[in-house]
Amino acid sequence: MSLKNALKEGYVAEFSRPSVFSSKCLGFDTCRYNGVAIPCETVEKLKPFVDYITHCPEVEIGLGVPRATIRVIEENGQLELYQPETGKIFTREMSHYTARTLDNLPPVDGFILKHKSPSCGQADVKLFRGRENKSPVKRVAGFFGGEVARRFEGLAIEDEGRLSNFTIRERFLISIFTHAKFRSIRAKARNKDLVSFHSQNKLLFMACNQAALKQLGKIVANEAKLAPADVYNAYYPPMLRLLNSGPQRTQTINVLMHALGYFKKQLNTKEKAHFLDMLESYRERKVPLSAITSVLRSWTMRLESPYLDMQTFFMPYPPELMDINDSGKGRDY
Ligand code: SF4
Repeated sequence: MSLKNALKEGYVAEFSRPSVFSSKCLGFDTCRYNGVAIPCETVEKLKPFVDYITHCPEVEIGLGVPRATIRVIEENGQLELYQPETGKIFTREMSHYTARTLDNLPPVDGFILKHKSPSCGQADVKLFRGRENKSPVKRVAGFFGGEVARRFEGLAIEDEGRLSNFTIRERFLISIFTHAKFRSIRAKARNKDLVSFHSQNKLLFMACNQAALKQLGKIVANEAKLAPADVYNAYYPPMLRLLNSGPQRTQTINVLMHALGYFKKQLNTKEKAHFLDMLESYRERKVPLSAITSVLRSWTMRLESPYLDMQTFFMPYPPELMDINDSGKGRDY
């Protein structure tokens, strides 16, 4: 399908339902060592919009609830999973479990892992030198979380601590919903779906990385006349890299200017000046992006721009998930 046909058919972005792996203790089960669950606002809010796959590696290797805590230690140059209270090592059980579980994992669009857990943590897990040492010497990945990061490099992988930051949460949401959409069309491997996908994500991808957008455009153009499945395969890695970097402030401003260009003949001088003032405030981090995109959206509806209307840039994930509160670090783009 050409872009013209996509527009003619009124391509409207529908959100695909992402499949997300979550550590089970993040509000699904009271499986922590002390028999409690850890509530996570993002996990909770996502429940109506995603399909969760949950596991608790420690319970699933037979440690039970409640249980004595375990930790990552370095012994004879090897990382081990050690339970100080019993003196037992669980490295082999956890490694086997991890390989088995990840080998059989259905397709996923992202991971939410428990922060700092010696099993689920993707980073920032305390490492102790030897069995007796009481002070951590550095931070490493947990056994399960580290293997997730290694096998699924490029996918959205976050812990619940980082997701309390607006910018990180935004990037995560954009990534899982875009990835889920791509995954759904890749299953059918039709050229026209990839053309539509690329067209509707153009501004979003431009806000992430303009050079990568160009590369993706060339792949979609398919001058080499590759088979559709090969085009999808070529498109996937650069798209992952682009989603991984997420939207950047300077490039987002370029996108907003580019969008303004669609209305330059219809807007009066005052409207344009007001928009440029808002853009400056956004550049100075005085107003959120949503304030500017809502003005653009209203012009898109009033002045009818089918191209802008279909852009996921204005709504890359369900609006119910929009929440500008964060842990205080603020928005970076
Ligand atoms: S962090 Fe992982 S292993 Fe620990 S309780 Fe949660 S799900 Fe289980």
